Amino acid sequence: TELGHGTFVRGLETTATYDPKTKEFVLHSPTLTAYKWWPGGRKYYSVRFCATNYCIVMAQLYTSGKCHGIHSFIVQLRDEDTHMPLKGIKVGEIGAKLGMNGTNNGFLGFDHCNLIRSEPEPQILDYVTQQHKLFIGIATVHAFKLSADWLWNMYNNVTAELEAGDLDRLPELHALSCCLKAVTTSDAAECVERCRLACGGHGYMLASNLPLTYGLVTAACTYEGENTECVERCRLHGYMLASNLPLTYGLVTAACTYEGENTVLLLQTAR
Ligand SMILES: Cc1cc2nc3c(=O)[nH]c(=O)nc-3n(C[C@H](O)[C@H](O)[C@H](O)COP(=O)(O)OP(=O)(O)OC[C@H]3O[C@@H](n4cnc5c(N)ncnc54)[C@H](O)[C@@H]3O)c2cc1C
Repeated sequence: TELGHGTFVRGLETTATYDPKTKEFVLHSPTLTAYKWWPGGRKYYSVRFCATNYCIVMAQLYTSGKCHGIHSFIVQLRDEDTHMPLKGIKVGEIGAKLGMNGTNNGFLGFDHCNLIRSEPEPQILDYVTQQHKLFIGIATVHAFKLSADWLWNMYNNVTAELEAGDLDRLPELHALSCCLKAVTTSDAAECVERCRLACGGHGYMLASNLPLTYGLVTAACTYEGENTECVERCRLHGYMLASNLPLTYGLVTAACTYEGENTVLLLQTAR
């Protein structure tokens, strides 16, 4: 894995240039994104048995100016006695992670020659599967915002009714708010996890802020009404309100159509 490429192995940027005169390969990291990123045992200051002295490096092979694709090379990284990096080898830690912090995942760069290789590539968001992961969340937040506004309006009306001594719609308000709480919090937690996965290895890093965000969002599934309990309350009130439910359903489902038909809104958001 390199900083810029994991799944897309053909895109690896590290070069191994063969010089027929010296009969040597010259390894080089032409860009920051060409740095090997994640492999374990990189730290030069780790205890000796953890430090990697040799590794197999995947690099683009160049001979006489022609690229022959990915090949593997056995490379000595450190002095066997001191375990210090050899000349032109750059190693270090990549930072705190979501877990597995006992494994010293690190980076590795080569600085032996000046061959630069660049190649235009599609952006990660160009993939339809990536768009699918994100746009569902973006579209859903609009649906939740509309539902929350609708419920807030109902809350204000029911509060006024309560002050006038009318308790009729209190169970319905209770059931609907329980339901919306459970649906929005569980959906939000799933969405953050989906975003984390959409970022590949970077999403696993604390630096992405997604692990912290997940920790905050998933807590809402538990506090202010544990979600299973909320759904259960909604179900119980549903029985009590059985005669009212068709009417409530009629009102709520109508909102899927008016003020912007849902499918059309989703398509507009996707565009
Ligand atoms: C704990 C841990 C330990 C690791 N240890 C090592 C190790 O020892 N050595 C090592 O080399 N690596 C290691 N890795 C790195 C790991 O192999 C990469 O993170 C993994 O291959 C994904 O690559 P990436 O991070 O570049 O994400 P990317 O490949 O950039 O993926 C990011 C997102 O884009 C999506 N995506 C990518 N390509 C496509 C496509 N063609 N179509 C649709 N969607 C696409 C993916 O589904 C993902 O959601 C480790 C990672 C972790 C988290």
